[in-house]
Amino acid sequence: MKKDSILTLVLLASTAVPVLAGPPVVKKAPVVKKEYRLDKKGKKVEYMFIDGIKVHETDPAKQPQPKVVAPKPYDAKAAKAPANAKILFDGSEKSYQNWTDTKGGPTRWKLVDGALESVRKSGYIQSKEQFGSCRLHVEFATPAVVKGNGQGRGNSGVFLMGRYELQVLDSYENPTYPDGQCGALYGRAKPLVNACRKPGEWQTYDITFHRPIFNDKGEVTRRAKFHVVHNGVVIHDNTELYGGTGWRGPHSASEYEKHADKGHLQIQDHGNPVRFRNIWLVELDD
Ligand code: MG
Repeated sequence: MKKDSILTLVLLASTAVPVLAGPPVVKKAPVVKKEYRLDKKGKKVEYMFIDGIKVHETDPAKQPQPKVVAPKPYDAKAAKAPANAKILFDGSEKSYQNWTDTKGGPTRWKLVDGALESVRKSGYIQSKEQFGSCRLHVEFATPAVVKGNGQGRGNSGVFLMGRYELQVLDSYENPTYPDGQCGALYGRAKPLVNACRKPGEWQTYDITFHRPIFNDKGEVTRRAKFHVVHNGVVIHDNTELYGGTGWRGPHSASEYEKHADKGHLQIQDHGNPVRFRNIWLVELDD
């Protein structure tokens, strides 16, 4: 078929789509561009732009801050683990034993008032068991006594498969780059809205995660997908991850790298005493 006729077909196909009320359902793949700049020391630094917006852009004219919305009241019924859930942490000493440091040794995080509390410089914690696609409920509270600002205030993170970070941060009246605020898929996608509670208050994440799938060549054949409800408010509506969420310099995120079908659930120690409780998970079919 000639190029012209393919183009005509594409145009016909696109005009044949019925006009429905509401936003379009099909999400277009983002356009990702990279460039390299020299820092003050003359070191080459990677800059990534997603749909023209620099990763970790702080200028609200270029990367608008998500709208602040009222969180829904804590829903104790929804927070209760269903019968088929794995209880990863319920405040008990026994469930504390479900966690190790990232080398499999005992964690130095503290068990305080039925919560797991991050201890500065003790490193990430991880579940002994490994998981792939899952539904995960996690509750967290950033420190009631506010210290620091931006990324230095109440920073932690929930890492699905030990890789894909849903950011935990005190983003209550604490602006930072939107793709790194509370509820961001770090460096890749900002939350749709800011539904944070005040520092010290318990908050909920209800995450539906589908793992990425790779072929033998190491290419991703199905991207990871996150649906995230923060304090009862949808902040990611089946967001596809077009790469990793790892740190690759101040303005770049990691790419996909083939990994196993399951990985440890990790929680970040970023130097702030963030608390976690009521962590349970239901494994999902891919
Ligand atoms: Mg973090």
